[in-house]
Amino acid sequence: METIVADITCNPKEDEKIYEKAGEILRAGGLVAFPTETVYGLGADALDEAASAKIYAAKGRPSDNPLIVHIADMDAVYKLASEVPEAAVKLADKFWPGPLTMILKKSDIVPESITGGLGTVAIRMPSHKVAAELIRSSGVYIAAPSANTSGKPSPTLARHVIKDLSGKIDMIIDTVDIGVESTIIDLSEDVPTILRPGFITKEMFEEVVGEVRIDPAITDGVKAGVVPKAPGMKYKHYAPDADLKIIEGDIDKVVSYINDNTRKLMDEGYKVAIMTTDETKHLYTDGIIISMGHKSDELSAARHLYATLREFDNEHIDYVFSESFETENVGRAVMNRLIKAAGHTII
Ligand code: AMP
Ligand code: MG
Repeated sequence: METIVADITCNPKEDEKIYEKAGEILRAGGLVAFPTETVYGLGADALDEAASAKIYAAKGRPSDNPLIVHIADMDAVYKLASEVPEAAVKLADKFWPGPLTMILKKSDIVPESITGGLGTVAIRMPSHKVAAELIRSSGVYIAAPSANTSGKPSPTLARHVIKDLSGKIDMIIDTVDIGVESTIIDLSEDVPTILRPGFITKEMFEEVVGEVRIDPAITDGVKAGVVPKAPGMKYKHYAPDADLKIIEGDIDKVVSYINDNTRKLMDEGYKVAIMTTDETKHLYTDGIIISMGHKSDELSAARHLYATLREFDNEHIDYVFSESFETENVGRAVMNRLIKAAGHTII
């Protein structure tokens, strides 16, 4: 299949043609990758089972890993969910459109093929102009996971999507400026529970709806036996080809561990990279040193994370050592991704 790659130009006439074409493809049951404020999504008509089956095939995604349904207005929530608790309305008021995914009990129109067989549905209203316009103009609810091959880092640039999915999907819409996935909050039970950390933090939720829990699988994820409530969280995601290890502890010890091991591996002929911060990068002596920005600027680390993981593949890096990043607020989201990328190897 030939994949159309279309650039949003900000020329209204040109862009309208792109939205028209993309809408046509979606309504006919095809696949369109599009930008959101989090990462690129791989979209299909959420209510068309055959169309969403193509998403699983193109990504190589396990069928028990449900998709997020992207919407453009509140009416859609009442159509897709059988119950809309007050907390959902409050959170939508405060954080939508934006990087928040809510889990609600599903209505009958939602096929189980996109919920991985669950009785709940994941819903998000993106704020990115291109995503919002595509949903609105196509007239479909768009089921969309991240537009990468399953197991690879989420795509923050169109060329990441092209690399993974060119030839397997109908169209890619290209644009700029994106970061980490949406926060997922489960409102289908009594106490709202964060299933996947993201830009919107526990503290931000609590200001709006009171007590919020974090799924133990996120905090204790490294321990065996804790099953995450978001099916997708159990898979090793975001993995670069390199062997990635996170080194935790006293910064002096971390630095000397990384320097010693980097030198050893380089002597053996391997390519080694180090993920660090502006504050500590001068302490490293060898290897390819990549700063994720200032330690205090968690957002910077979030923005750099996926592009950096992808860069390791492009550069054919064999080993990566990473410092640990702060675990409060957005840092928790970054660390959660990093731990998964490392396949839970923390030293
Ligand atoms: P992705 O779109 O690739 O970021 O993946 C979607 C994430 O949402 C996965 O981690 C899924 O497990 C999670 N998810 C989607 N629907 C549900 C649901 N009904 N209940 C819990 N988690 C869900
Ligand atoms: Mg994904």
